[in-house]
Amino acid sequence: ATPTALLVGTGRGAQLGILIKGPEVLESTRRVDTVVLDKTGTVTEGRMSLVDVHVADGVDAAEALRLAGALEHASEHPIAKAIAAGAADRVGELPAVDDFRNEEGLGVQGLVDGKAVLVGRDRLLAQWGLSLDDSLTAAKQAAERAGRTAVAVAWDGSARAVLVVADTVKPTSAEAVAGLKSLGLKPILLTGDNADAARAVAAEVGIDDVIAEVLPADKVDVVGRLQAEGRVVAMVGDGVNDAAALARADLGLAMGTGTDVAIEASDLTLVRGDLRAAVDAIRLSRKTLGTIK
Ligand code: ADP
Ligand code: MG
Repeated sequence: ATPTALLVGTGRGAQLGILIKGPEVLESTRRVDTVVLDKTGTVTEGRMSLVDVHVADGVDAAEALRLAGALEHASEHPIAKAIAAGAADRVGELPAVDDFRNEEGLGVQGLVDGKAVLVGRDRLLAQWGLSLDDSLTAAKQAAERAGRTAVAVAWDGSARAVLVVADTVKPTSAEAVAGLKSLGLKPILLTGDNADAARAVAAEVGIDDVIAEVLPADKVDVVGRLQAEGRVVAMVGDGVNDAAALARADLGLAMGTGTDVAIEASDLTLVRGDLRAAVDAIRLSRKTLGTIK
């Protein structure tokens, strides 16, 4: 490929809302056969809202919201923002938190009103030796099968509530997935979220392969494993927890609407956060390099 042709390609990229780190990036873009897509903030808007509160018998829903909202107020996670905002709307001012701890990919814990409180996944509950009762388990599973994310709230030594947050799939995601498939690429959805929730989102956009319940630190290993199978992997993500995987991938694509860390780790930035630009990028690289080979 001549440098001039590559530079023409990058200029066209800018017009399409794609920022390319260097002209050489187009070459790896052309060879990609597998596209790993982060769920939250990439396929979905990543703007969640609190939609349901389920409590165990005898538990006050306002109390669950006060404690969970206070704790999540200290976190930047999209789930946390949804819970803190939803709680503040419903119960007003939230109490202060002591000894706050963020358990990456699992949830949060800390002291609120002198009580030890946890909000997060079953795995975090299990670390406290706790589990949800049958009725809360049923509520959580129903929410997850509907593609929502449900987290447990525990305090005073037992799991007492389930909070459900909903995100929406971006209106352009299904078209983008269809575009990737039409280029002969295999899309795979990758997420730390629950498998049922992940499969519901995957079905909505037309993705058949789902890798769920992956801890943030393990996303990079998933990319490595696909490469070891001989795949040339593009990874599309937006979060701090995607950065290592974006760097490891043969081609890293960051959502321009995402975090700086993700953008820095990537070869390409989809400026408007529209997944269809990933399809344009791959088509462009094939066209640019195809015409000059
Ligand atoms: P994703 O891969 O979708 O960006 P994460 O790896 O950040 O998700 O989180 C995985 C799961 O861990 C979430 O679906 C949720 O169940 C739990 N979790 C993470 N952070 C929080 C939090 N601040 N509050 C409650 N649950 C959380
Ligand atoms: Mg994300």
